[in-house]
Amino acid sequence: DCPVIAIDGPTASGKGTVAALVAANLGYQYLDSGAIYRVLAVAVAKLGLNPEIPANLLQIIAMAANLPVQFQADQVLLGGEDVSDAIRTEVAGVMASRLAVVPEVRNGLLQRQRDFRQMPGLVADGRDMGSVVFPDSVLKVFLTASAQVRAERRVKQIEARGQKADFQIIYNDLVARDKRDSERAVAPLKPCDDALVLDCSNMPIDQVVATIQNWARE
Ligand code: C5P
Repeated sequence: DCPVIAIDGPTASGKGTVAALVAANLGYQYLDSGAIYRVLAVAVAKLGLNPEIPANLLQIIAMAANLPVQFQADQVLLGGEDVSDAIRTEVAGVMASRLAVVPEVRNGLLQRQRDFRQMPGLVADGRDMGSVVFPDSVLKVFLTASAQVRAERRVKQIEARGQKADFQIIYNDLVARDKRDSERAVAPLKPCDDALVLDCSNMPIDQVVATIQNWARE
């Protein structure tokens, strides 16, 4: 069977960077599941749909199951159009998290995510990789870091894009999002029973990557 390494965790925990590095080192496929939620968000915004309007929500649910998304090298395509930058905006992130609370949307996106499971293996990052999408993962990691450290990382990311960032606003937003994500009824963010929890607040990236690869070898 094709092995999966699931890396779940809160926003800005560094799981995207870590998962991509582990995948590259092992020669595995890489799934950024959040990007799929974000592509759906961009598709929804393009059509001006509002998930609070029941008829629109039905349309969104139908779109989720047939989302024409492709990952090509470092590009993300929606129906052939490059949406790599559009999915990274704050607006797309907020819409993604609004759509992510709808169970039918999550179900619609399941197969899209599972299609990434190809030999010789897959590293999948998200919120529910170990619990829902790939429950038979050979290794489940819950990667976390203190809110302070994650907010500092987010500030650096934003400043690297040449934009201004206010630490306190970002910190408060992050704490609020953690609360919402962990308390929601659908796919709440928490380590599953068989996950290994790794707090990387004080660890350099290469040490996090090495730790996960050692666990994968065991
Ligand atoms: O990880 P990222 O910030 O790109 O994900 C965007 C949003 O999609 C998250 O805030 C979360 O609400 C949702 N998401 C999810 N399950 C996943 C990946 C992302 O609910 N596996």
